[in-house]
Amino acid sequence: MLLALTVRRDGLQSSHLNPPHSGGGRRSQPKYRTGIGFDAHELASGRRLLLGGVRIPSRLGLLGHSDADVLLHAMTDALLGAVALPDIGTLFPDTGAKWKDAPSGLMLKDAYQQVRAEGFRLVNVDCVLVCDRPKLQPHYLAIRTSIARMLQVPLDRIGLKAKTTEGTLLALRRKSIAAMAVVLLARTRSRKPGVRTSNLGARRSELR
Ligand code: MG
Repeated sequence: MLLALTVRRDGLQSSHLNPPHSGGGRRSQPKYRTGIGFDAHELASGRRLLLGGVRIPSRLGLLGHSDADVLLHAMTDALLGAVALPDIGTLFPDTGAKWKDAPSGLMLKDAYQQVRAEGFRLVNVDCVLVCDRPKLQPHYLAIRTSIARMLQVPLDRIGLKAKTTEGTLLALRRKSIAAMAVVLLARTRSRKPGVRTSNLGARRSELR
């Protein structure tokens, strides 16, 4: 009954949710989980370029329903995937007003809250930005610091590097930025069998 109520409220399909007890018995619960995330957004004029919550000086910014922070989107999907929760497009749909121009840090924080609720904490995340322009190396520390602050983890848990394609990937050449993220989570406690829900009902102010 609780599962049915949750599905109706969040508009999620039952295939997106892990049924109660799907994590197996206590002895079968793994100590570590990994997750992978990927995203890409198109560059366009008239938009701000935000990466990891940091404003990057650039003539072009990323197009998207939210603030289009491609790095935070990849990280959010990696966190959700590590605990087999629905992906970012399911939990934070790019339709309607709720997430229009929203800071992507809110999605990342929401996803991490759900990871913590599942009984895991972040060990580390490693990210790759694929970007020909602008050069991002001068911004590594600011971006890593921003993400560490969002997740409230030490700076050395956040790895980041940017790669150019040397013009070899025409789809990416100065027209878009892509991001990949891999996370490692460690279990902090056993999972309690029950219904898992997203935090979609939370007000933005509660997630800051
Ligand atoms: Mg995205």
